[in-house]
Amino acid sequence: MAVRPSERPSAPAIELAGVSKTYPGTSAPAVDDLTLAIEPGTITTLLGPSGCGKTTTLRLIAGFERPDAGSIELAGVTVAGPGAWVAPERRGIGMVFQEHALFPHLDVSRNVGFNLRGRERDRRVAEVLDVVGLSGFARRMPHELSGGQQQRVALARALAHEPVVVLFDEPFSSLDADLRVHMRAEMRRILTGTGTTAVFVSHDQSDALAISDRIVVMREGRIEQQGSPREIYQFPHTRFVADFVGRTNLLTGRIGADASSIDTDLGAIACRHTHDLPPGTPVVVSVRADSLELDAEGPVRGRIKETTYTGRSIDAVVEVELAEGRTADLMVHAHPEQVVECGDEVRFRVLPDFVAVIADGDASAAACRACPPAEPTR
Ligand code: ADP
Ligand code: MG
Repeated sequence: MAVRPSERPSAPAIELAGVSKTYPGTSAPAVDDLTLAIEPGTITTLLGPSGCGKTTTLRLIAGFERPDAGSIELAGVTVAGPGAWVAPERRGIGMVFQEHALFPHLDVSRNVGFNLRGRERDRRVAEVLDVVGLSGFARRMPHELSGGQQQRVALARALAHEPVVVLFDEPFSSLDADLRVHMRAEMRRILTGTGTTAVFVSHDQSDALAISDRIVVMREGRIEQQGSPREIYQFPHTRFVADFVGRTNLLTGRIGADASSIDTDLGAIACRHTHDLPPGTPVVVSVRADSLELDAEGPVRGRIKETTYTGRSIDAVVEVELAEGRTADLMVHAHPEQVVECGDEVRFRVLPDFVAVIADGDASAAACRACPPAEPTR
């Protein structure tokens, strides 16, 4: 049976239950007991470092790999699992790869209409070219298009089949910085406008934050955390997520008498992150650079060690003196109007907005550290 979008409207577009996959000749599973539901009409990004199993997860969904265990449903139809198998071409899936994989000898219209049959074909090709803003380009050859236009053709080709879901594997990584920012806004506009369910794979946190309704952070074949971009960035649950998604400062501390306060080497820090840890519990705290505000009246003293002017902010490394002669380097974002120079003695305060409590922390680790080091100052 082929999968169609309307199969079971209330079902998740994609549902993985306990899916595992180990490649022959390897010992560690590429995907390890993955359970995940993706709602129709949403954009999800599988985000994680190289080798964490993102592409394998996409290939399992697409049917290019078979799971060793677990089951996969698309729009309520079991496509892989004990005794069940639907071939890739019958799963109703569109794919867009990093290299746009257009047929070089076919024009845009033929690339988009490839595999479409019947009288509806021309109408559908015109419709999806209009959706991606390439109406006047039907007769162009792929080599006559820019990288961004080629990518839109690849998307049009995927949309032409009215897929249940479109899968994208690192689609922005071959684009230069400006085009990348433009294309992810453009993709998001097209996908939301057409109500398409989309799953992206990326190792780039800024792509993931910009394009997604939901981010699934993966590590070693497993899900480390999932949530909205804001939840993932603002309240990472583990050190791994805090470090991987944006840079952060990690401090050790203990939950204070009141749950919204944490005692750290920098003093008592207020946080808005809700948790149910009892007072006194040792924790690691992630404090984003955005949560440290230079302020002449602030309670914490430090000395500027490095500054990087980015246009939008001044990223400063501030050396802070702690108890017993220890020091720590913290990343602080200053407003670009501020005058901040190496060697300056400064004061700052900790704002509660980007303070996250990480319960998995090994609290006996270094009492306070910043991570990772700032890029060199030009
Ligand atoms: P990602 O896309 O996150 O970089 P992959 O899903 O490609 O990760 O790979 C996950 C793990 O599986 C890695 O350790 C990788 O080396 C391994 N792997 C991927 N494809 C194969 C394959 N065809 N044969 C053997 N091992 C593979
Ligand atoms: Mg990959």
